[in-house]
Amino acid sequence: QRNSKSDVGDDFEDIKQSMGHYNNKPSVSPRHTGGVAQNKPTSKEPANEDLGEETDERLKNIEPKMIEMIRNEIMHQSVPITWDDIAGLGHVKKSLEEIIVWPMLRPDIFKGLRGPPKGLLLFGPPGTGKTLIGKCIASQSGATFFSISSSSLTSKWVGDGEKMVRALFAVARCHQPAVIFIDEIDSLLTHRTDGEHDASRRIKTEFLIQFDGCGTTADDDRILIVGATNRPQEIDEAARRRFRKRFYVPLPDFDGRFTLMKNLLKKTTNDITDEQIRDICEKTDGYSGSDMDGLCREAALGPVRSIRDIRNISVDEVRPMNYNDVIEALSQVRASVSNRDLAGYEEWNEQFGSLG
Ligand code: ADP
Repeated sequence: QRNSKSDVGDDFEDIKQSMGHYNNKPSVSPRHTGGVAQNKPTSKEPANEDLGEETDERLKNIEPKMIEMIRNEIMHQSVPITWDDIAGLGHVKKSLEEIIVWPMLRPDIFKGLRGPPKGLLLFGPPGTGKTLIGKCIASQSGATFFSISSSSLTSKWVGDGEKMVRALFAVARCHQPAVIFIDEIDSLLTHRTDGEHDASRRIKTEFLIQFDGCGTTADDDRILIVGATNRPQEIDEAARRRFRKRFYVPLPDFDGRFTLMKNLLKKTTNDITDEQIRDICEKTDGYSGSDMDGLCREAALGPVRSIRDIRNISVDEVRPMNYNDVIEALSQVRASVSNRDLAGYEEWNEQFGSLG
């Protein structure tokens, strides 16, 4: 049994003090302090976009090289995505719309007790749409989307991970409202501190400092941190508590698979009927969204496999993809999630998940 105050909790306090981080906390612009005014930059300040960002107070201690890297590799222009692009998950989508999107759109109404959570954890098997949900939240709330995986923080920017975290939050503050999506968050916030490298420990500490620094003084920063994980059990308690909302993103059910397949089949000429889709959905119990995607891609190769001379055939001569192509593909593309893993998610959800 672990003591609830163990791990990062206590160490974190110590490190924070010793690093004197409180003094470095990026300043919060008055335009983000509550009320409708948040949406309207005052005449003294640049608009949310790039205008004057180089001279922004909030970026003053950040290396320009890092800012550049974040802008190029981590910050994304919002691609329009709607909830309808995400198959199934009706309950999760509805809750997220109310708890996250509305407050991002109307911070003047959703403040105080109605204030949104700073952190949202999406957990569940791989390939179930967690990343898609992160993008959709950003798109629906008109937020800038920042996306990074924990492994790139710990491996790609060796030695610079900690600075990257600081830079990431600083740039996000300049592009509010913002959604910071962190994939594989478990490896950043793992409770396995024994023998942990100093570097990853420092990244973790910096992340928690930045997390806590968001919106502490008032209903100011409009930054949502979305963590996604296939291994929620790995996240230590101090970190878990910070994600006030924790949603289970399960495998798609029959209806979810049906919608997924209908959408996937729109992309390629086919003569597959709804009845046949229903039959395929019966046979694909346990498939994730990305397994369904893989299945349809494999099946779509069926019609071209029999072509003798690919160089000289016209597009119209390629036969439509059919039911048998999918049935054959079923033997190639299997469900990627094991029952044992599923039981683990259900259990964690019972214990720590939010119902909505
Ligand atoms: P995760 O982040 O949960 O690992 P992703 O959101 O990256 O999964 O999904 C991987 C791919 O699988 C997506 O690009 C999409 O094609 C498909 N997919 C998975 N779940 C869904 C879903 N519920 N609706 C639509 N597409 C999905």
